[in-house]
Amino acid sequence: MTAVKGLDAILSGGTQFITFEDGKPLTLLFIDWYDDLVGIREHYESTLNPKYVRCPGKDVCPLCAANPGKYPGFKIKFRVFDPKDQKVKFVSLAKTHIQKLNTEFNLEEIDPTKNFVTIYRSGKGASDTSYSARAYRPNGQDKPELQIPNFDEMGIEVPSLEEQITPHTPEAIQGFMDALLAGAAQQQEQFQQMQQQQEQFQQGQYQQQQGQFPPQGQQFQQQGQFQQQNGFPPANQGQQGQTSGRKLPF
Ligand SMILES: [Zn+2]
Repeated sequence: MTAVKGLDAILSGGTQFITFEDGKPLTLLFIDWYDDLVGIREHYESTLNPKYVRCPGKDVCPLCAANPGKYPGFKIKFRVFDPKDQKVKFVSLAKTHIQKLNTEFNLEEIDPTKNFVTIYRSGKGASDTSYSARAYRPNGQDKPELQIPNFDEMGIEVPSLEEQITPHTPEAIQGFMDALLAGAAQQQEQFQQMQQQQEQFQQGQYQQQQGQFPPQGQQFQQQGQFQQQNGFPPANQGQQGQTSGRKLPF
């Protein structure tokens, strides 16, 4: 792969994962199913880059050690062909959703690796989300005939599932966590610099006003303006201050 397109793809290191959305069914051909499915334990930490960290086991995993009460979720990974984009993409789903899809395939009497299937998601949250699947039935209008692709002939890249089912090493995970801490420390430094500048600024104002202390409201407004000029959101001030303890947010 020479070029990576799309924010999600770039952030996930060139790997394109499918996000199913409520009310937006997707028609796909499954590449892995049955014996090819692989499950792995995975942490989700919104503050880390990457956000999804594949757990190497709680005995060695720094994230498990940092938060023993927070278990990584069990996720099933597989590949699908998206005929709309003519691309092979990855899917990551919880076991319950895999079970549901399998039941639907059985009821429909379809093999999702040999027939295109349409996957429907209902619900938005983790607890109310449900999936269903139907065989894709072309109607000659908005549902065109779809050919089972020959990836080699069509020059479609089929990425390996290997990386997605290999746990991150403890060293790599420690690196993600250190990077977060380094980022927090840098933010703290910027915050302190900003505070110093602000103090100098206020002193200047104070001197200009010849000893008259500015009314509270006015001072607050000035602070706000100053913060905005520095590109520092005033609302986060409290939060920023908390990071000074270098406490991990997980
Ligand atoms: Zn872990």
